[in-house]
Amino acid sequence: MIGSDRMAFTVAIDGPAAAGKGTISRAVSAHFGLAHLDTGLLYRAVGRKALRGGDPVAAAQALAPEDLQGDLRTAEIAQAASRVAAIPQVRQALVEFQRQFARRDGGAVLDGRDIGTVICPEAEAKLFVTASVEVRAERRFLELVAKDPSVSRESVLADVVARDTRDAERDTAPMAAAADAVVLDTSEMSIDAAVAAAVELVERRMR
Ligand code: C5P
Repeated sequence: MIGSDRMAFTVAIDGPAAAGKGTISRAVSAHFGLAHLDTGLLYRAVGRKALRGGDPVAAAQALAPEDLQGDLRTAEIAQAASRVAAIPQVRQALVEFQRQFARRDGGAVLDGRDIGTVICPEAEAKLFVTASVEVRAERRFLELVAKDPSVSRESVLADVVARDTRDAERDTAPMAAAADAVVLDTSEMSIDAAVAAAVELVERRMR
């Protein structure tokens, strides 16, 4: 077992906004006792600093644990994250931290956009979690409206589309499924079924 012999074992989970990566990553991490890094939070923290007038490259180079405090899961910060994430020097500044986390003893799950392609091309298990844009926008709308009742479905859909387009079309580390990733389309799947499929894939790779 991975947990007992303290080997490194990396699970890379990529996919577009609100596809279910976060829930699946947390469940896989809990099931196998692997550490979890939501890499989107790193870009969100840099995005928040940029919104406050900071230089995004300097912010990424000096990113500290306290920068991850507070609510980073707002629509405004998501857009700012996707803008700073297109800057090559921002991405470069965050590579080493992510790679070290990925290879830590005991194993790790990382979720993001470029984990299986750029950060950990050697990851033992790779998943690309996706869903139709309508389903993803509805999921994100339900999350956001719980915090802010003035949020509209239309604005959430527009935000998701804008972010997907920017993330998939940027030149540096665009969002993409690695050639050896298993694609999991969760459009018509319950969260339990999606988690079960992910756990089964990781189990197969551990054998
Ligand atoms: O996953 P999350 O929605 O929190 O990510 C916020 C933004 O951060 C994404 O839209 C994307 O632009 C960027 N990101 C990235 N690479 C990652 C993780 C997130 O470019 N590995």
